[in-house]
Amino acid sequence: MAVAAETNTQELIDKLNAAYEKAHLGYEDNFWATKMALQASGSSSGSGSSSSSSSSSSSSSSSSSSSSGETGKGTADALAATKTAYETFLGDPVNLQAVRTALEAAKEGKAQLSAEQEKVLRIMERTFGCYILEDPAAAALKEKINSLEAGLSQSRNTMSLGYTDPATGEFKKASSVQLRNTMRVSDDEATRKACYEGVRSIGPFVSEQFVEIVKQRNKLARLLGFEDFYDYKVTAAEGFGKRRLFEIMDDLEAKTRPIMTAARERLAKEKGAAALEPWNQSYALAGDTEKAQDPYFPFEQAVDVWARTFGALGIEYSGATMTLDLCDRDGKYSNGFCHWPQVAWRKPDGSFVPSKANFTSLATPSQVGSGKTALVTLLHEGGHAAHFANIDQPSPFFSQERAPTSVAYAETQSMFLDAFAHDAAWLGRYALSRSGEVMPWKIIADGYAATQPYDVFALRAMIAVPYFEKALYELPEAELTKERLLALADEVETRVQGGLSPRPLLSVPHPLSDESSCYYHGYVLAEMAVRQTRAYFKSKYGKLVDNPAIGKELCEGYWRPGNGAMFLDLVEAVTHKPLAADDWVHDLERPLEAVLREEEADYKEAVAQGPAIKHGQPVDLKMRVRLVHGDEVIADSETDGGLAGACDKFKAWVDKTYLSA
Ligand SMILES: [Zn+2]
Repeated sequence: MAVAAETNTQELIDKLNAAYEKAHLGYEDNFWATKMALQASGSSSGSGSSSSSSSSSSSSSSSSSSSSGETGKGTADALAATKTAYETFLGDPVNLQAVRTALEAAKEGKAQLSAEQEKVLRIMERTFGCYILEDPAAAALKEKINSLEAGLSQSRNTMSLGYTDPATGEFKKASSVQLRNTMRVSDDEATRKACYEGVRSIGPFVSEQFVEIVKQRNKLARLLGFEDFYDYKVTAAEGFGKRRLFEIMDDLEAKTRPIMTAARERLAKEKGAAALEPWNQSYALAGDTEKAQDPYFPFEQAVDVWARTFGALGIEYSGATMTLDLCDRDGKYSNGFCHWPQVAWRKPDGSFVPSKANFTSLATPSQVGSGKTALVTLLHEGGHAAHFANIDQPSPFFSQERAPTSVAYAETQSMFLDAFAHDAAWLGRYALSRSGEVMPWKIIADGYAATQPYDVFALRAMIAVPYFEKALYELPEAELTKERLLALADEVETRVQGGLSPRPLLSVPHPLSDESSCYYHGYVLAEMAVRQTRAYFKSKYGKLVDNPAIGKELCEGYWRPGNGAMFLDLVEAVTHKPLAADDWVHDLERPLEAVLREEEADYKEAVAQGPAIKHGQPVDLKMRVRLVHGDEVIADSETDGGLAGACDKFKAWVDKTYLSA
């Protein structure tokens, strides 16, 4: 039976909730099993991965994927089938129509809706609206764009990227990540320049196909009544238009321009004018901080340090289960991520459904820097998980991690929490060597000296992407040529970053693909919100680290509403002022001497006090933690004596597997 035929609103809501949960869980379970290359046909998420094969969200869906054989969990077929089922559900116009009919019936007085029912129907309408194009001309155009994008992504994947070794004249294959890394560490300028030219060669390679995509995207946006594609995307994702976005961005741009000019002058003075060349900049800025800090971030203690940090902040996970697969191995997917096969929500009978999160990173525990990376990843992804575990709304739609959830909203939570790893107040409490020594102040001070005066470069590189995309979609169609595109990228880099960028704009993958195009501003807004939230808490409480009021305010202010509230409204409600650039600008304007003075005072207090929850003391995050390595379960807080016990077991496993010679 199609949902459209439903007359009872609560029945409609229940069916859509159940169908959503099922499609989402089926896809995510398979996503995890495939990316982790699991052998066993089962993940943490329990129930089966049956997928709805019909295009409507009928409650009696047929089980198309069996638990064994070719289409079992973790095979490419099962992943593709469950992905299609999930997308079909979200893109089904019948569902959208049923929701609208229910809303209209209430408006016309033919049916009664409770406030909660109306709220759920509204988020369903908004969610389906992100995946359905009702105008057939728009839908056809979208299909055309999809195939152009697939073509571009395919040719980009087959592009032979690399650099010509200046010593031998030999072409060496390298990914863009490897090229940028070599630019950072190679002592040979000619090699760095060759790598820069390698990254820069992406632009001319993609430009012809990309120009065509830009034209069609604009056509689609105008068909839907928007000014251009950027305006369309930002409105759909954030609920406000391009104009409002760039009011905020322009203010940030104007206020940080003089800071950038001064930083460029400082770098030229300190390291010579050549340090400003795009192939020299990252090298000139790469200090020895990472190496010096490394002994104070032992990899095997990262889980314990993260758990105590969050515990002392008063963060709880509302009964969630989190599965962590932290170490690299053959066959494992080469990108870290955190997903939620089971999203948190509250059922109509009042019972709360706790979330289940899967989280992976690619650590090699014996490598320099792996401990810090693991810790920052835990703070960041664990922050996303804490956010999504605490969404408490009457439908799983409020916890959808894709649109209509704003990137800026989601990233604000994770970036707020990973920022602790830079605070002297945190380092003085939690950055301890294997033998228990605290990171010396000198190492922390050297780190600030190497980075603080140049932090503005990261900001300018970040805002260059949205400014480039804005200018691109605003070009008159007649001007949209390959040559103009390449020139525009250089113009924007020079205007926004003061010179050509170490990361050429056309080498940034986001603008090319549909999902991530015109959303880079989300990171900018998130960082802005992080700075504003930190400044607010600092003025209110004086300190953030080990302050249980912080977790409580994050949870109640930012996390509970899920995507039912708008990002800008949430920031204003939590910090009591509209989102603005000022606190971020203030951070960048602080002279190094002032930063060092304040941080040193925080550091001394931190060392004197020690962490609120000492190593070995019980931590209760109201969460079950499973530490796994592919199919192997290393430790489980439920059976290994709580989180502290699981952390000990994990530490022993890392020692044995990686660290004992
Ligand atoms: Zn994130």
